[in-house]
Amino acid sequence: MERRVRAVAGMDAELRAKRKRPEMATATATSGAGRCLPSKARVSRQPPPARVRVAVRLRPFVDGTAGASDSPCVQGLDSCSLEIANWRNRQETLKYQFDAFYGERSSQQDVYAGSVQPILRHLLEGQNASVLAYGPTGAGKTHTMLGSPEQPGVIPRALMDLLQLTREEGAEGRSWALSVTMSYLEIYQEKVLDLLEPASGDLVIREDCRGNILIPGLTQKPITSFADFEQHFLPASRNRTVGATRLNQRSSRSHAVLLVKVEQRERLAPFRQREGKLYLIDLAGSEDNRRTGNKGLRLKESGAINTSLFVLGKVVDALNLGLPRVPYRDSKLTRLLQDSLGGSAHSILIANIAPERRFYLDTVTALNFAARSKEVINRPFTNESLQPHVLAPVHLSQKELLGSEAKRARGPEEEAGHLEPPAAPACASQKLSPLQKLSSMDPAMLERLLSLDRLLGSQGSQGTPLLNTPRRERMVLMKTVEEKDMEIKMLKVKQKELEAKVLAQEAMDPKEKENSPPARLRPLSRRTVTVAKPLKRAVVMPLQLLQEQAASPSAEIHILKKKGRKRKLESLCASEPEEKAEEGWEPQISPELLAHGRQKILDLLNQGSARDLRSLQRIGQKKAQLIVGWRELHGPFSQVEDLERVEGISGKQMESFLKANILGLAAGHPCGSS
Ligand code: ADP
Ligand code: MG
Repeated sequence: MERRVRAVAGMDAELRAKRKRPEMATATATSGAGRCLPSKARVSRQPPPARVRVAVRLRPFVDGTAGASDSPCVQGLDSCSLEIANWRNRQETLKYQFDAFYGERSSQQDVYAGSVQPILRHLLEGQNASVLAYGPTGAGKTHTMLGSPEQPGVIPRALMDLLQLTREEGAEGRSWALSVTMSYLEIYQEKVLDLLEPASGDLVIREDCRGNILIPGLTQKPITSFADFEQHFLPASRNRTVGATRLNQRSSRSHAVLLVKVEQRERLAPFRQREGKLYLIDLAGSEDNRRTGNKGLRLKESGAINTSLFVLGKVVDALNLGLPRVPYRDSKLTRLLQDSLGGSAHSILIANIAPERRFYLDTVTALNFAARSKEVINRPFTNESLQPHVLAPVHLSQKELLGSEAKRARGPEEEAGHLEPPAAPACASQKLSPLQKLSSMDPAMLERLLSLDRLLGSQGSQGTPLLNTPRRERMVLMKTVEEKDMEIKMLKVKQKELEAKVLAQEAMDPKEKENSPPARLRPLSRRTVTVAKPLKRAVVMPLQLLQEQAASPSAEIHILKKKGRKRKLESLCASEPEEKAEEGWEPQISPELLAHGRQKILDLLNQGSARDLRSLQRIGQKKAQLIVGWRELHGPFSQVEDLERVEGISGKQMESFLKANILGLAAGHPCGSS
């Protein structure tokens, strides 16, 4: 900072000589000093609010970040517009239009002469002006505003010019005497702090009866030369609140506001006075705090920064759309700027952006903030042909995507460009393919293109221009994927068949089991599934198993036949198969299978944990705990019917539990832990 300002003092004479003296318009006093005009008169005289002009400055790669590993995700089109790759659609570019665009090769002088110098003359007309540097941390705000010894920025250049102007205009013999004062403050967490007198604490912002904004108690230092300015500015800059974030070691966490007042007094009657204010503001970083790893105080700071930047956005929108209400009062920053943004004031917002892809989301946010108009251009980012990897995707993690956009109440036009959480961010962390997502390719379209391709071929067309493109590749891939999908489906069916076979074998007569060949297929591991409400549900047998049973009359498991309308599973308790037959289902299940199921349940009741027990139908958390508690108290269950003895489980519940579970367990179904 010191280096930046000090060297500015020695800004070469050439620079000064080159600078043209801005044209001075004949000015009339806006009001007499110390006299308040009635507000009506003031309102009637007011010109329509001035639009906030917006310039965008793209900085070059810094710190050797340029190279094969990175490529710009944004590029200029002309002196007013730029384009940026659209992360949502690789085939599209977002084109933004501004009052001015300064590319990475633009100099400090270009920015100053193009956007700032022209507004200075208005200060001598008694009008206000403001220059705001906006953008994410590291995008070049401070460089633009303050610059370096070699490349002085807007502040030193404007001060130089203004002081020079006032010297000339206020020279002896001229009708007006001019004086310049400076104040320097920061807005940190919605507090106004005097950087020239840090002990003053939070200052209040007031509005006088003429609608001028003032801060009582704010230090004002008269300056007549750049050395004076430097003398006050330099130590005050050190008082700025800065903190470290992951994005930048010395990231500005506050809005730094340099206020330069030009006061004029008429030397002769009627001794009019007028005052013009110039705000030169290095705004705090606009990055999304959810991506800076900010916590605690840092997060609170970010919230405050985002609040005032958010309100600033609304104010700029309201001014530029000519809305009747401009929400100046919603933040300290905009309240302070109330008489210098809009009205007869001349304001320029310089949105600073960075070319690196890691800045992509912040760049889009900054552009959306600044943009008056934006179009979606249906073509890929134009760098494509030069550097194919440029088109490659901006690498965004899902977290980044979700945290990308501070929610802003913007106009519908801009809203469309905002980075809402993507609908399908699954591929966000991967490299996005330059091809359209395969699964989203319309097969009908594919077919039509292929037939068109054939037609062109039959007409002797050279090659296949239509399909000899990435699209063709896409189609081929699409076909391959479809084939693979089919293969996977078939494998799944086969796997199910094998599982069913194994289950059937498990359910076989023990004798037969002994006779069966030793190299049996093992069932594939099954997941434990907890079924919440098995009420009135017949147990579904594996298809293969049922088919085998149907094919073999001697099979021991029989299909359950529905008898009445009411779907009820026959009681599977071995003790009462006959009595329940009239309920709707005819049990035709082998006693061995039932015994097998009962044994499995009994084992589970005696050995299973509460969690295991919950995998049984009709056993919830509470019942599982009751069962485990009973077991600990009374020892193992000797038969499944003992469940009835557990306090909290009625006989009826026990029966319905058995119905729901035995067949399933006999077939090895619901409970993986048994
Ligand atoms: P911010 O204030 O937005 O956090 P800085 O102004 O500190 O960002 O810029 C970050 C780095 O980029 C600094 O090292 C600065 O010198 C460099 N930089 C920014 N803009 C430019 C530019 N237009 N040309 C060269 N270097 C730049
Ligand atoms: Mg900075």
